[in-house]
Amino acid sequence: MKIRVLGAFGGEGFGHRPSSFLINDRVLIDGGSVTGALTVPEQLAIEYAIVSHAHLDHIAGIVYLTETLGFCETGAAVTIAGIDPVVATLRAGVFNNILWPDFSKIPHVDVPVVKYRTLVEDVEQRVGDLWVTPVQVNHTVPTSGFIVHDGTGGMIYSGDTGPTNALWAAARGLHGLKGVILECAFPNRLGQLAAVAKHMTPELIRRELDKLPPNVPVWIFHVKPQFHEEIAEEIERIGNERVRLLEQDHTYSL
Ligand SMILES: [Zn+2]
Ligand SMILES: [Zn+2]
Repeated sequence: MKIRVLGAFGGEGFGHRPSSFLINDRVLIDGGSVTGALTVPEQLAIEYAIVSHAHLDHIAGIVYLTETLGFCETGAAVTIAGIDPVVATLRAGVFNNILWPDFSKIPHVDVPVVKYRTLVEDVEQRVGDLWVTPVQVNHTVPTSGFIVHDGTGGMIYSGDTGPTNALWAAARGLHGLKGVILECAFPNRLGQLAAVAKHMTPELIRRELDKLPPNVPVWIFHVKPQFHEEIAEEIERIGNERVRLLEQDHTYSL
């Protein structure tokens, strides 16, 4: 599995792009940054955008991607996939002809550039060339993490979450697991805020580690840009060499 990190952060800053991962050139997992990180031909090759939840730092790039698709007139389309409440929010709250045009009817209702697909929770299902299992996690709005497998390698993507159990339980015994992509938004001194906003801190990650599958790398993403250095130091101080920050613009081969 090839994971290209289009955006590794939980917000936008100078050199920091919001969370987005391109798997095997065809499937986005979250789309906080797409158009700012890919050429137009690369954007047109995207078939699916699997969305953990509808917060802007996970979807803004998909919104701009729909314009690329709409203006190119190549017949390219993207299928936005997620659990039911996430798809419902994108339909009603984003592509609603108020915040943004309803690209599920553009250029024509029969051949739109946006299609939707509701993923069934806790069930492994085929999405493009991947096998994907969405599992609800612990965030302020309906959110799922994903267990993703392409037949050779698998990984777990947490989405935005505070401490959680179901995702780790669902991944137990998974064959070919090569890594975990886990969120961290705030430094330890903002633990109170992390609890309210349902995000991780390095200290919460340290406590979460025992629940995670053993012996695979844990790549940290979704750091809020203004806390990048502080969180990097606190992650280092966990003292567990399998936990490290995910690198933006890097392509991981699992
Ligand atoms: Zn986020
Ligand atoms: Zn969020």
